[in-house]
Amino acid sequence: MSVAVFGSVNMDVIAYLDRLPKPGETLHGSSYKMGLGGKGANQAVAARKLGNEVTFIGRTGADSFGDAARAELASYDVDLARIRRDQASATGIAIIKVGEGGQNMISVIAGANAAVDGRDAEDAKGDLARCRVLLLQLEVPLAGALAAARIVRAQGGTVILDPAPAPKEPFPAEVAAAVDIITPNESETAGLLGWQPATPQDALRAARELRDKGFRTALVKLGAKGVAFSSPEAEGFVPPFKVTAIDTVAAGDSFNGGLASALDDGKPLAEAVRFAAACGALSTTRKGASAAAPTRAEVEALLRKA
Ligand code: ADP
Repeated sequence: MSVAVFGSVNMDVIAYLDRLPKPGETLHGSSYKMGLGGKGANQAVAARKLGNEVTFIGRTGADSFGDAARAELASYDVDLARIRRDQASATGIAIIKVGEGGQNMISVIAGANAAVDGRDAEDAKGDLARCRVLLLQLEVPLAGALAAARIVRAQGGTVILDPAPAPKEPFPAEVAAAVDIITPNESETAGLLGWQPATPQDALRAARELRDKGFRTALVKLGAKGVAFSSPEAEGFVPPFKVTAIDTVAAGDSFNGGLASALDDGKPLAEAVRFAAACGALSTTRKGASAAAPTRAEVEALLRKA
């Protein structure tokens, strides 16, 4: 069995500052880091670091950032056979500032990610048909992602959609029908439902409302406050694992990579959500995006301790 990710790949340039700057202000920070990013690549690495087989489907530009992104994906042993080198676009880039307490501000230029379409899904048909779990996000155009979802669903696979960044318009009806599990955070939930959950009770209510909109299973992530889930088989709330958070960049990506890994391993939903929450929590204890995702041994140690 395996995990496929159809999504974005970026180079991240991260500046570490004592606090986030105000408009017009120049701040001198302590250090910076450059590395692999993009929600798709982050989720692929997160699932791969947990030991699952992972194929990534997406595009870079034919430039040095693209080479660096591929090299870093390859260093984690993610299968790169389905990454296209797009001659017409630059590799996607994210410019990230991290301030006090790990708060962040992110600007993204999509580049080659914006060119991903149904052809990428069609070319990767064999890999998609073989996978047990497909991870989708919203950093590549929806049409391509839905084409990938249809291939996976036709073979009985599970499709997870992280609706991030928050969609600007309501989803077309076909989205709920093409996806098994939707995993918004607080603000993405507000975009989808028109109100923002703040408490565990709210999160569970929001997850049920998402199911009323046609999603079979909904997970509502509340960052440091935990995560609610609702499906026809099980419902509940996973309280946060206690960690010292220093950088919340890509916590949601580690969570989704962990969720895909656990479902690929055949774990039932409630157990998979707990596993994913442990992955999200551990990723906040380290700097960076892909680099911050935990290993299986680290996740198992946290699950035993809690
Ligand atoms: P996103 O990055 O999509 O906004 P969240 O910030 O909600 O996602 O984080 C995803 C999950 O990671 C949370 O639901 C939670 O399980 C875990 N998590 C995130 N931040 C923390 C934290 N500070 N302490 C413990 N767990 C956390």
